[in-house]
Amino acid sequence: MSDTPSIGSFALPHAESPEASWSHKALDLVKEGLLHGQARHAPHRVVVTHVWGHCPRCKHRIDVLQTHQPGTAVRDAVEGGRGVPRSGVSGRPDGTEVFTVAVACSCPPNGHPGAPPKGGCGASFRVQVPFMNQEGS
Ligand SMILES: [Zn+2]
Ligand SMILES: [Zn+2]
Repeated sequence: MSDTPSIGSFALPHAESPEASWSHKALDLVKEGLLHGQARHAPHRVVVTHVWGHCPRCKHRIDVLQTHQPGTAVRDAVEGGRGVPRSGVSGRPDGTEVFTVAVACSCPPNGHPGAPPKGGCGASFRVQVPFMNQEGS
């Protein structure tokens, strides 16, 4: 175990990775304060999520803003997502709401051999992000 902070693993090849393992890693990063997320209610029942910090796989910085239209069921597109909550709003025992969002790594292009032009190392994961504002009820 080395705890030397090495930010950015440029030798990592691009690879489509099952999300379950990265979701668990993402949870660790959230606890460590290396990955952040927040959700907010926008007009017309749209939910906007913002996830930023370190990719659980390649540790590159990511900054992902996503808009979630109401009624668009997010399907489990990636096998291996079992045990990870589906995307969407869910309540916590303490009464707060969280939004589970699927995030694909979006680190800058050229970070990984074989990466597509849009960038990313290929990892995708889910994180639960808290709502910053609670609108109506
Ligand atoms: Zn990555
Ligand atoms: Zn990367």
